[in-house]
Amino acid sequence: MKRLFHLGTALFLTLAGPAMAQAQARPLPGRDVEKIYERLLKQIARIPIYDNHSHATFPDDSDMDAMASPPEESTVMRLRDSNPEFVAAAKALFGYPHEDFKPEHAKWLVDRKKAAEAAGGTAYWDSILDKMNIETCLANRVALAPYLDPQRFHWVFFVDSFLFPFDNHNLVAKNGDMATYIPLQERVLERYMKQENLNGPPADLASYEAFVRQTLVDNQKRGGVAMKFEAAYFRTLYFRDPLREKTEAIYAQFRAGGAPSEEDYRTFQDYIFRVLIDQAGKLKLPVHFHSAVGIGDYFSLRNGNPLNLENVLRDPRYSNVKFILIHGGYPYTLDMIWLTAAKNVYTDSSLMGYYVYPSELKNILKQWISLYPEKIMFGSDAFPFNDAVGAEETFWLAARSARTAVAAALAELVAEGAFTEVQALGLARLYLHDNAAKLYGEMK
Ligand SMILES: [Zn+2]
Repeated sequence: MKRLFHLGTALFLTLAGPAMAQAQARPLPGRDVEKIYERLLKQIARIPIYDNHSHATFPDDSDMDAMASPPEESTVMRLRDSNPEFVAAAKALFGYPHEDFKPEHAKWLVDRKKAAEAAGGTAYWDSILDKMNIETCLANRVALAPYLDPQRFHWVFFVDSFLFPFDNHNLVAKNGDMATYIPLQERVLERYMKQENLNGPPADLASYEAFVRQTLVDNQKRGGVAMKFEAAYFRTLYFRDPLREKTEAIYAQFRAGGAPSEEDYRTFQDYIFRVLIDQAGKLKLPVHFHSAVGIGDYFSLRNGNPLNLENVLRDPRYSNVKFILIHGGYPYTLDMIWLTAAKNVYTDSSLMGYYVYPSELKNILKQWISLYPEKIMFGSDAFPFNDAVGAEETFWLAARSARTAVAAALAELVAEGAFTEVQALGLARLYLHDNAAKLYGEMK
């Protein structure tokens, strides 16, 4: 209890404004909650955002992601073409003159974006960030694009492909999702091998490990600021700790051909995963995990539950690794926030900013702020949905949802007597900017 009290005191001292709440917080907000919301929102709109997760891209750029949507996926309500908010986004960003995205209308928007792409240079995407007061943005991509200004967009590269060096026919045959995903992973692995001047998988496990470690070194030199696992799409996030000898034998057996059993493949992956994490610690590269429900028809909620990662996040061998649970573990947001109790674990609200409406995002942020406000970050997960509704519109929707939701969460807490408006603004700044800037070593 002593330690808990101590931490509480530290938070109090950091955030204390001149007028502290007088008494115990109340379970219902006072009647001034809307006024407080409006005052806070005005201030919060001025806070420059640090976006922890996006796929800033033109829609025809295949480097945008190491992932693609399988053909039959079912889309959540807010992301359907019929959502009028996307029209509002296009109006706010570009002065879009129409009320829908009928093909003959959408052409106006598509032409405009194609022209920006053809013009080249980095000014276009900088201007998109400027319109939403986003200062810095992580771009999770296979490679950084020449049209993204490296001063504003920092590269987060993918590492799942190292888990798939063998014959993957059995995995591809599993279902339509895997048939879409696995060939993309194979392509990224081939690209990494080419980058490291290899013609095929190295001769033994030791040289495969060296290849994995060197690729991370080189990607960091190319500007990579973090590495990302989307492993939840392919397998359980529970990683065991297999013996090296066992993995060595599996590698030797399947390096040159033959499909491993599910169990053997998993053993190999568990081992290489730990090589990647170990190297991330050595290079001081933060590690991102997709930690929410995913797209596709066969995504396993049980396998993707971030609680599967507990044995890794709480392993003292990796206490020097910064882990970031992307997408807030949605829908397991309350379970997930307790994982950030570990000093090296963080999360962001990406994807949720357009999966749910601001009223629900408000509830989630209110819980997070009440528990570990120094561990939560904004993320847009900006992504192009089609040629008309692009990453631009999803940036807008996510940023606006987050600003309004965090203002509402804080307004309620202030109106319940939890803390003052001054403290509330400090907490908003942590979420929208400072926590990420500090994590990536860019705090000015
Ligand atoms: Zn994403």
